[in-house]
This record gives sequence, C-alpha cells and structure tokens, in this order.
Amino acid sequence: MLVLESARTALAGAESSTGGGAVVDSLAQPVTLAYLAAAGLFVLACAGLSKHETAVRGNIAGAAGMAVACLAAIAIALSSDPAHGPLVTGLLIALAIGVGGVVGIVWARRVEMTGMPQLIAIFNGLVGLAAVVVGYNSYLSPDASSAALGGFHFGEVFLSTFVGGVTFTGSLVAGMKLNGTLPGRPILLPGRNWLNLGALVGSLALGAVFTALGDHSTWAWGCLVVMTLVALALGVHLVVAIGGGDMPVVVSIMNSYSGWASAFTGFLVDNDLLIITGAIVGSSGAYLSYLMCRAMNRSFLNVLLGGFGTDASTAAAAGGGEQGEIREVDATGVAEMLLDAKRVVITPGYGMAVAQAQYPVAALVEDLVDRGVEVTFGIHPVAGRLPGHMNVLLAEAKVPYDIVLEMDEVNDDFADIDVVLVIGANDTVNPAAQEPGSPIAGMPVLRVWEARQVVVFKRSMATGYAGVGNPLFFKENTSMLFGDAKDTVEAIDRAVETLRARPPA
Ligand code: NDP
Repeated sequence: MLVLESARTALAGAESSTGGGAVVDSLAQPVTLAYLAAAGLFVLACAGLSKHETAVRGNIAGAAGMAVACLAAIAIALSSDPAHGPLVTGLLIALAIGVGGVVGIVWARRVEMTGMPQLIAIFNGLVGLAAVVVGYNSYLSPDASSAALGGFHFGEVFLSTFVGGVTFTGSLVAGMKLNGTLPGRPILLPGRNWLNLGALVGSLALGAVFTALGDHSTWAWGCLVVMTLVALALGVHLVVAIGGGDMPVVVSIMNSYSGWASAFTGFLVDNDLLIITGAIVGSSGAYLSYLMCRAMNRSFLNVLLGGFGTDASTAAAAGGGEQGEIREVDATGVAEMLLDAKRVVITPGYGMAVAQAQYPVAALVEDLVDRGVEVTFGIHPVAGRLPGHMNVLLAEAKVPYDIVLEMDEVNDDFADIDVVLVIGANDTVNPAAQEPGSPIAGMPVLRVWEARQVVVFKRSMATGYAGVGNPLFFKENTSMLFGDAKDTVEAIDRAVETLRARPPA
C-alpha cells in the first residue's frame, strides 16, 4: 500500500508540473502500455500481499509497478513542458526525487514496527495535500482537455480539493494522536454532529456555486478558498472527536479517502493510471476498514461516533474490578508445564509488539519443537493494532509460516490443547465477548479457556484496548505470569534449557 501511495503522489506531481497529460504523439502508445503494465503490477502486488508466502513477491511487483509508472510520468513531463525545456524539468524532477528519496529512506529505516500506523497516517496526509495542491494548480492552469470539460472540470477541482483537505488534516491529527503528541482522549465540541453536517452541507453548496460560476472571478475564488478552509477544519474536527484507540480504523478510513482523492486528481490531470491506483487504494482501504470493524463486531458509524468504553453504561458493564482469585506462576513453573505438554498454542497480542518479544518467542518455539512438542500460533484478525500486525512480527522473527494459523483454524481445537500461552493479548481472548450486555459482546474471540492450562503473560491486571475486564484471568485453569513479555519469555527459555540439562530423577 505504501508503494501505491508513493506512486500516486509521484504521478500527481509529475503530471501537474506540466499542466496535465499533454502527451506528445510519439509517446502516447508506449505511455499507455507502460500504464497498463504498471496497473497490472499493482493488482499483482495487492494479490501477493494477501498471503505470507507471496508477500515478498507482492512487494517486488508493487515496487516494479511504481518504477514503470514513475518512468512513464517522467517521460511525459520531459516531453511536454515547453515552458522550461527538458533540461530544467529533468533537474527539477531529479531534485524532487533526491530529496523525497533521502527523507523516505531515513524515515523508513528509523521507524519501529509499533510506529507504522503513524507513518501510514502521515503518508495518507501527504496524498491529501498533493490532491489539494494539484486541485489548485489545475484550477489556475487547466490543460486543453480539462478546459474543454467546462463545469465538469470545476466539479473535479472541487471534489479533489475537498476530499484532499479532509484527508490531509484528518490524517495529521490521527498520526499525532497515535504518536502521543495530541491526547488520545476524544475532544468533543458541543453539537459536534451538527457542526459536521453543517460543514458538509456548506461545502456542497459552495461547490455547487463554484461549479455553476465556472470562471476565475473573485466569487469563484472565494468559494474555493472558503471550501478548502472548511475541509481542513472538518478533517481536524472529525478526528479529534475519536478516541486514540480507534485511530487504526480511522487511519484505514483516511487511507481510503486518500485513494479517492487521488482518483479525482487522476481525472484532473487526465492520468488513467492515477485513476486506477486511486480506485484500488480507495476500495481496498474501505474494505480493510470494513474487515477491521467486522472483526471487532462494530460498525463504521460506531467507530466514527465514539469508541469502546466511552459512555457510562459501558464503563459499568466493563467490570474492570476484581472478579475472584488469580493464580500466579513463575518462569520455571511455565517451563515445566511446557515440557510436560504434547500440544501448545501461542496466542500473541499487542503486548508482544510492545515488548518486542517475537525473537525470544521464536527461540522458545524452536527449543520446544526440538523436544518434540507440537507448537502452533493462533492469530486473531485484530490482534495488535494493525491487521496482520502479529504475522509481520512473527515473519520478522523467522517463525515458519505453516505453524501460524488463523483464529478459525484453531478455535475448535482448544479442548485438545495442553497449554495455551497468551502473550500480551487481552481483548482477543476475552470470554466476556460471549456474554450479552458486555461492551465487546459479539466480537469473535480465541476460546483459549477451553484448553487444559492457560498462561497469561502481562505486566499488571490492567484491561486491554477495549477497557473491558477479562474473566479469563480468574478461571481455574488460568495462571498469570507478570512482567514484560520479552523478559518472561527469555526466562522461560532459560528454564527450559536448565530443566532439559538436568538428569532424570
Ligand atoms: P489488547 O490491547 O487487548 O491487550 C494488550 C495487553 O498487552 C494488555 O492487557 C497489556 O497488559 C499487555 N501488555 C502491554 N505491554 C506489555 C508488555 N511489554 N509485556 C507484556 N504484556 C504487555 O491486545 P489484543 O491484541 O488482545 O487486542 C487488540 C485490540 O486492539 C482489540 O480490542 C482490537 O479490537 C483492537 N484494535 C485492533 C486493530 C487491528 O487492526 N489489529 C485496529 C483497531 C483496534 P499490561 O498493561 O497489564 O501489561
């Protein structure tokens, strides 16, 4: 997806710098072919990225598609910029690619896995900003084909600028909330839904007047500028009102908006590839948001209008207080359980990402498998803070793909499992989801409590992301292992080694 983001921004920039797609005749056919090839590679990238086994191939296809798309866009820019000539245009493009490339490489190398949502939010914001800038550029200097479209072109300028403006500020606020630069709690203005509705209706009215005027008069300028300011304010207002915990879904929704903003930009600069990539990102972002909401048993509206645990009834139902006795276990105790077990399942969650415990987890699994214990992973679709978060961490630690199973593949087998290690997961293993009235009622969860023994790795009795108490901790077959997951898993691995080295009694 990041590859598509870069391609879209690059294409929009290269095309708009020359005032649109005035492709010289000799280049028309090769450029069309290049765009077709790039579009095909982007579709292959999406297909490849949907499975671990093909993810690397998918990434390569995306990068190749982006290279083809950029080369074609640069060729157009070099051949159709009579104002500056190919040398100046080439130098300007090389400068932009150089600066952007250096910033991108430095940033990508520094970002932690837990910082990916922020990075994606900022990239989405840049796509939104590009759509606003291209919208203004196209309004100021439309190319021949856009000018011929008349009012329709003004409608395109309006849509691109409006969606781009909302995406730009909305994504920046989402990124700052995820980063902790802005407080995560929802900031609610009185009558906020009316404010949003007013901003939307007002912008549509301004867009209608702007399109009807269809000129560069002071009134038309006024409509465009006021609408842009309203769109920027709307982006901030929509997102500050949402709790920090819901930001991953918001980022995914913003990703979808940025796709549609790019598609509108594609119409503006008459670039078919930008329309295609924008539509792919727009629809895949919307589908991803839908999948995230479905896996949490929530609706888009529920996310946009308020998060888990924000009203009084929810807080009461959350049952955050004590619910009985808990049993504690230490690392040696867990090592003994594991060495006695035949079948072990590990269900990781957000805490594994925070602790960066995937490497010791992979080492422990290797040791257990060497001892003849059958170990598999059970991955909940929204474990962590991004779809696929756990899969990426485990792949990074070189855990073999064939032992990483999805929730539906393990959920009916827990009764035959000797030990389940719940490493930094909470909501995704919460039996309260099966109780009507619970704030997470209906959310599909891993039924780990059906196993013979369960060990929960966490630092305290705190709730997870949804703020809901977890009865799992108080079940008779559950033991709590408190501490940072990286430290505790390393301690278990050491204890396994020691116990193995000990001669039989
Ligand atoms: P949760 O957020 O429910 O719980 C994480 C647990 O990890 C906490 O209980 C915390 O307890 C523990 N933890 C944190 N840091 C450490 C550490 N260093 N060592 C050990 N434990 C630690 O995680 P889940 O993955 O189970 O659930 C994900 C939640 O996020 C779901 O509610 C889901 O709906 C939501 N979500 C997921 C999205 C996705 O796409 N994946 C998107 C949006 C939301 P303690 O503080 O006591 O250590």
